[in-house]
Amino acid sequence: MAKERTKRFGRGANTCRRCGRRRGLVRKYGIYLCRQCFREIAREIGFKKYN
Ligand SMILES: [Zn+2]
Repeated sequence: MAKERTKRFGRGANTCRRCGRRRGLVRKYGIYLCRQCFREIAREIGFKKYN
């Protein structure tokens, strides 16, 4: 239907896709996550560099 959750994230409104915050947002690799969430999922997806 016409339900788009991504509609909230427009241009210049980069927020964490996980918690919705902008603090320390990481746009690397096109993941758009804050540093905290990134560190958590990084372990899952295999990013061990960011430890
Ligand atoms: Zn987050």
